[in-house]
Amino acid sequence: VNRPLELVVDRARRDVGEYLKLLDRDPHVLVPARVISRDLLRIATEAVGPAGAAQLVKRLGREIGRASAEAFLGHRESDGVDPVYRLLTGSMHLASAGFGDVDLLVFEPTFDERFAVLWESENSSSARNSVQEAGRSRVCHLEAGYSAGWCSVATGLPVEARELACRSEGVARCRFLVAHAGRFEAALADPRFHQPSAEYSVTPVRISAPGPP
Ligand SMILES: [Zn+2]
Repeated sequence: VNRPLELVVDRARRDVGEYLKLLDRDPHVLVPARVISRDLLRIATEAVGPAGAAQLVKRLGREIGRASAEAFLGHRESDGVDPVYRLLTGSMHLASAGFGDVDLLVFEPTFDERFAVLWESENSSSARNSVQEAGRSRVCHLEAGYSAGWCSVATGLPVEARELACRSEGVARCRFLVAHAGRFEAALADPRFHQPSAEYSVTPVRISAPGPP
């Protein structure tokens, strides 16, 4: 399967939009954004402290991403085997589910230990709903976990994700690195994931949630 990226983007966007329109509420529940994007982190921080809370929320995000990918990709036929389609639909599903728009900055997926995707969001749900406080820190653990969970299912690889910069720290965009777990530290140190956003404008793939029909 080797089609131009734009064709796969269009197909993936249409399929996710149609899928979400048909989605039965059961086995899903609709949760107010601020509860899962803001209150959950606060409640977890009260219970287990900031480091444990970040881990817990990221773990939950990973399960949401994983379960969403299994539900969506489990019913795809021919396209369901195209690994690029399997990854791209994750970006659209994340956006359509309300976690934030996705800009793919580095999208050259190789399906081995070199696997890496770099993405940004200017309206991540966790950052949008976070309460600005002194000593601000990164808050988008849910979104980081979600992308790791979806990409793990999509690729069959052990995949990790981390937020590299967050709007709640005062920058314009939240940035996420998704990479093979076995080479995550090496990927983190790779300067090509730490350029200013404008440096990536050569072939941006802008993915927003589908608008109303
Ligand atoms: Zn963020």
